[in-house]
Amino acid sequence: MCGIIGYTGKRNALPILLDGLKRLEYRGYDSAGISILNNNSLIRLRAVGQLSALEKRLNDELNKSMADGATGIAHTRWATHGSPTENNAHPHADCADKLHLVHNGIIENYQTLKSSLESAGHIFSSETDTEALAHLIEQEINNGQSLDEAVMTAVQQIKGTLGLAVVAANEPDKIVAARRSSPLLLGIGQGEYFIASDPSAIIPHTSQVIYLKDDEFAIITPAGYEIKSLSGQSVAPRTETIDWSISEITRGGYDTFMEKEIFEGPSAIANALRGRLLPDDGNVKLGGLDAAENKLRYIDKLVIVSCGTSYYAGLAGAMMIEEYAKLPVAVLHASEFRYRDIPLDKNTAVLAISQSGETADTLAAIHEAKKRGLLTLGIVNVVGSSIARETEAGVYNHAGPEISVASTKAFISQLTVLGLLTVYLGRTRTMPLAIGQRIVRELARLPDLTESILKQAHKICAIAERYNSFKNFLYIGRKYNYPTALEGALKLKEISYIHAEGYPGGELKHGPLALVTTDLPTVAIVLRDSIYEKMLSNIQEIRARQGPIIAIATENDARLSELADDIFYMPKTIEMLSPILAVIPLQLFAYEVAKLHGRDIDKPRNLAKSVTVE
Ligand code: GLU
Repeated sequence: MCGIIGYTGKRNALPILLDGLKRLEYRGYDSAGISILNNNSLIRLRAVGQLSALEKRLNDELNKSMADGATGIAHTRWATHGSPTENNAHPHADCADKLHLVHNGIIENYQTLKSSLESAGHIFSSETDTEALAHLIEQEINNGQSLDEAVMTAVQQIKGTLGLAVVAANEPDKIVAARRSSPLLLGIGQGEYFIASDPSAIIPHTSQVIYLKDDEFAIITPAGYEIKSLSGQSVAPRTETIDWSISEITRGGYDTFMEKEIFEGPSAIANALRGRLLPDDGNVKLGGLDAAENKLRYIDKLVIVSCGTSYYAGLAGAMMIEEYAKLPVAVLHASEFRYRDIPLDKNTAVLAISQSGETADTLAAIHEAKKRGLLTLGIVNVVGSSIARETEAGVYNHAGPEISVASTKAFISQLTVLGLLTVYLGRTRTMPLAIGQRIVRELARLPDLTESILKQAHKICAIAERYNSFKNFLYIGRKYNYPTALEGALKLKEISYIHAEGYPGGELKHGPLALVTTDLPTVAIVLRDSIYEKMLSNIQEIRARQGPIIAIATENDARLSELADDIFYMPKTIEMLSPILAVIPLQLFAYEVAKLHGRDIDKPRNLAKSVTVE
């Protein structure tokens, strides 16, 4: 959540910061602001609303000092404390307006800090938790500390999470940054350095980055950088190369990132599979699990922790692993896992699934699992992210950057990786060679099958136009495609703001059937699989009550034509992999409905990508 970018070098900072903010806007977009440091003066501009509002103010009010400055920080906010107003927008300042800072996260003890700072005479001008940090640093500077020392001392007094970047008028060309549980990285260019909460902000300038660890500080000037620990000790640099290309972080001819990312589905799957399939052995190669190979052989329970779309991927993955690897799996919302007192013994492994690898709830669940001495694993898309670093072993998705807030390609990539994991775990247990070979063969077909579904996107457009005016939707599926129904409903909610509920088909008669009338369409996933007949009965129950039905069906299924009002046919695959295909028409449907409603699809209201607050 929230985007931070900072720059110091020889170029004008403003266009670099603005361009970076544009790439980060998906992380938060209720207000934005920039501070430029030029010759011992700090100039700040903030605006409520999307970035275009800030750009407009910059066009109207730009002065030379701001235009020429070569150091600055910028922020796009996702409000946690205080509504999205200009006063609450970052950067925040101290009383003397001598230091400005941007922050991502939550200062949990801000109220205590604020009271004592106010008693000491500090005047607050916002309702945010963040501002306490500005005054705290000011207090330490007034006590005689340098900027670097003051930031360190202040951070030591903070409870909560932070990604932080600070500039001060009396320290020209310098940015001090710090991190605790909120992502922050340092970009290394030629005579110029960057701070960013996400590599996409700085990809056009450098691919060399250092991910800060918790309680580390970075001090950057055009002359170089230094990383220190909370105690002030220098930390040896550990540069990584980001392999994202610029084309991956632009819309590339599509109207929205979401549309582009849906159509990147086939390559997302192909990238998740690349180099990992061993068709003859009916097995897979997952190098990231080598470190835990022995432990994985002996675990007798798996707990999957995740949130949102990744949680639904976990639900489907659990069914795959239980059916084919014969390993019991529990799936829990990460935000629930850590507060429940679940008895888990040392033969349990905890698997985190997170696109960004920074999801605060999921990371906290991993911390909890580590505290209990359990084996921790990750399925993460962003290389080098916190969950990737903190888990003992894991598998990267390699889906490329996902910019749209509503996840699409990451979901199918997560399911693909869960399919791989099923083979991996199954083959070290009781899975016969022939079953392994069959799953591996089907995994290899997925990119082509996905492509064939996307070629029929126009059919979904036509269906969306017919159902666009309904106010509520029901989504149903059973077994493997119950999570698909949940994800389909979530997609519609997220981007079109239309109410939708996902249900297991067999549960309708236990309540939701009361809602069914001609005004409530049901999207039903009815594939030729082990629960086909059961799903047909569930559709009959809806039909008997005049509920309109949109079916996602297996190609050549003639029986459905009498039961459903509209049908989208998809190719057949094995049941455990069918959610990967069945979710695509649901993603397209949500997209088309949201488009017809004129929604801001990549930036749905109240949401943000990479949820780094708990
Ligand atoms: N808690 C801070 C605020 O509400 C930071 C929010 C963010 O991460 O954007 O301003």
